[in-house]
Amino acid sequence: MAYDIENIFAKILREEVPCVKVYEDDNALAFNDINPQAPIHVLVIPKGPYVSIDDFIASASDSEIAGFFRAVGNTARQLGLSTPGYRILVNTGDNGMQEVPHLHVHIMGGRKMGPMVAI
Ligand code: 5GP
Repeated sequence: MAYDIENIFAKILREEVPCVKVYEDDNALAFNDINPQAPIHVLVIPKGPYVSIDDFIASASDSEIAGFFRAVGNTARQLGLSTPGYRILVNTGDNGMQEVPHLHVHIMGGRKMGPMVAI
């Protein structure tokens, strides 16, 4: 699947659409999910044009991959989630029910996240 430069997260990266930013570095941007499923629900996206985790792992450089996952951890730590804990989730492709075709890691916390769900 080709990357769609008009997807909503590409527009957020270009600052054409606003977001509530919680973390940013050279590799990633993190912002509040518009429809939170937990008291803290943040999305972390790489700055490069990657459709999904599958695309990212296949195509990104080692430095982009390391930098991105370090940014995910830094975001969670900055949000105070390291000790109470949190859940990360990456929906991928059709069966994964991925809605936005730009890789994003969901960070959810602020309460017990409950059992894993597969509904
Ligand atoms: P997915 O289902 O692709 O894993 O998750 C997409 C997420 O993006 C959803 O949780 C949805 O609430 C969030 N989202 C969709 N559009 C926007 C937007 O314009 N701004 C923000 N901040 N989040 C969005």
